[in-house]
Amino acid sequence: MAPLTLRIVLDTLRKCHTPPKTFLHFRTPLDLLVATILSAQCTDSRVNMVTRDILYPKYKKASDYLAVPRRELERDVHSCGTYRNKAKYIQGMCGMLIDQHHGEVPRTMEELTELPGVGRKTASVILSAVFGIHEGIAVDTHVFRVARRLGLTRGNTPEKVEQDLMHGAPKKEWGEVTTLLISHGRSVCTARNRTCDRCPFQNSCPSSWVSRKKDLGKPVARASKKQKPR
Ligand code: SF4
Repeated sequence: MAPLTLRIVLDTLRKCHTPPKTFLHFRTPLDLLVATILSAQCTDSRVNMVTRDILYPKYKKASDYLAVPRRELERDVHSCGTYRNKAKYIQGMCGMLIDQHHGEVPRTMEELTELPGVGRKTASVILSAVFGIHEGIAVDTHVFRVARRLGLTRGNTPEKVEQDLMHGAPKKEWGEVTTLLISHGRSVCTARNRTCDRCPFQNSCPSSWVSRKKDLGKPVARASKKQKPR
């Protein structure tokens, strides 16, 4: 059987899932930057709860995040985990936005990844979901696992997986690659439980129980306790 291609995977998943542009709720580009920083090692539902109930009503501009003591911001984001680093990154990021970008979120990968707490993955999400600019594919733990299980890549780092996926779809679809693979990874091809009998790829996926091959979706290496830009 011919190996699956990203084209086939996307066309198939579009019939199964209708994901939003991002799973994190936001009103402004700054909101999404903050929410994405908070989502490190935290569920989207927890982040959405904290941003809805605490952050968005209280902080509307970059200067608002700098107007409170670090301790207060730490308390506000406490339930998202690693709250000291996250508060530090948020204030550092807001300071740089004010100093170098007139308080606005920049629109290039280069400028975004210079911000504290912002790595290539976060920058890809911001550019794609907010500005409709596709400079990369955000590879989180679901994208990494599902892409490997489906045989779309043999990469063993998020960077290598991203490169392979970028070669498989036109730029305008890069944002959708992330959201469709996340949707599939959350609902059908989960880390603990591959429900291959419910999967449209059960007869063509190299990791399918039908094919009796072993699981190719090794987890991403655990991040160190010190939060890294994502
Ligand atoms: S067939 Fe199984 S392993 Fe392959 S993508 Fe579907 S659920 Fe995952």
